Amino acid sequence: MTTATAQNQPDLVFDPQLIKRFDINGPRYTSYPTADRFVEAFDANALGVWLGKRSVGGISRPFSLYVHIPFCSTICYYCACNKIITKDHGRSANYLSYLAKEIAMQAALVDGSRELIQLHLGGGTPTFLSHDEMRQLIGTIREHFRFLPNGEYSIEVDPRKVDFATVQLLAELGFNRMSVGVQDFDPDVQRAVNRIQSIEETRAVIDAARASGFKSVSVDLIYGLPRQNVVGFNRTLEQMIEISPDRLSVYNYAHLPGLFKPQRRIDEAELPSADAKLQILSLAIRRLTDAGYVYIGMDHFARPDDELAIAQRQGRLHRNFQGYSTHADCDLLAFGVSAIGKVGPSYSQNFRTVDEYYDALDRGVLPVLRGIELTPDDLLRRSIIQALMCHFELSIEGIEVAHLIDFDSYFAAELADLRDMERAGLVRLDSQWITVLPRGRLLVRAIAMLFDRYLRSDRDRVRYSKVI
Ligand code: SF4
Repeated sequence: MTTATAQNQPDLVFDPQLIKRFDINGPRYTSYPTADRFVEAFDANALGVWLGKRSVGGISRPFSLYVHIPFCSTICYYCACNKIITKDHGRSANYLSYLAKEIAMQAALVDGSRELIQLHLGGGTPTFLSHDEMRQLIGTIREHFRFLPNGEYSIEVDPRKVDFATVQLLAELGFNRMSVGVQDFDPDVQRAVNRIQSIEETRAVIDAARASGFKSVSVDLIYGLPRQNVVGFNRTLEQMIEISPDRLSVYNYAHLPGLFKPQRRIDEAELPSADAKLQILSLAIRRLTDAGYVYIGMDHFARPDDELAIAQRQGRLHRNFQGYSTHADCDLLAFGVSAIGKVGPSYSQNFRTVDEYYDALDRGVLPVLRGIELTPDDLLRRSIIQALMCHFELSIEGIEVAHLIDFDSYFAAELADLRDMERAGLVRLDSQWITVLPRGRLLVRAIAMLFDRYLRSDRDRVRYSKVI
């Protein structure tokens, strides 16, 4: 199946044979190196050093902030996030006081200006917070950082918990992008994953966002859930297209009950077969591109006039922990349990449990669990992986000039592997460019993996979800 997207946009070719052949386990590359390569030798002191060094020559770029709110009031069985299921709203009040401590500690270490161009509240369920708590959190952030007028301020919203007044409050507080979890509207699937959410409540939240001036609404769907089939998912797609969000993500459900406990409550016998999943994916791509959505890459679709689609056309698209973004050059400060930040050539991740997180902050120490300082080789490979995932092409000369290497000799082994993909029609190689062809675009993760030094020396890929 071939789908032509909007003018000047890359075509996407859905080739089930190729997908089956190259469908290997792999990471999603919201960072490179991936978080499982972080080490505990990178600690709170190391993060402090990098925060203090970020103003080079008196110039410091605006920040991006990520805040993790781990609480959810009910469990979705497919969940692979770091969350705490609780009905006790008192827990978030305590958590907010620790967040305030962490925000103040990091801000105090920052050298240079504290302007904010991007903020993302993720979880868990950020809208678990009461209106007062939400005001308090944004107030804390505003005490230490200055929101820039053209910034992207986004929040993940669970439509089951949110009414018009909450959406209005979020807009008043400065949020202008919203990400809405849906997964599937089929009631049978919803029962199988313990997430009952009506079309009406979803539509009401999206309408409220538009009425309150949100600039972009994105919706997450998942394929591969129990009891899903082409007919049911087609209905979900129809309903979604009618609601017409600015962006849509269609994620693959990776069933890893050994790693994620809630998934043990999913009946494996009800999961769609690999062939059925491919049919559902094929359907989703066809329906969305027919409806005018552009394939951005890695499960993401956007309307041609959405800023991500525009950024991709203009070569300004980046990829970070929030997925695709127009602001990846920023340092990312991360707050809350398990949150991952990026400062200078380093990544760091916070403790994953609230007890460890609170304990570090009680001792007056940044709650860093682990991290990594990127080597020149990491930086080189990160820029290659980023270019392939965001632009589907790589300028060999650009990489040689930026990183002072001879590409052919540095990457002789990788190029040899790429030849196999070239013969299969996934990529085109010439002396100047590596280009991901329409047949390879759905498999861009597998192509990027060839440049992952850690995977090359460690072929143990069982920890990762399937590419498709
Ligand atoms: S999927 Fe989202 S809402 Fe559901 S349990 Fe996980 S974090 Fe909470």
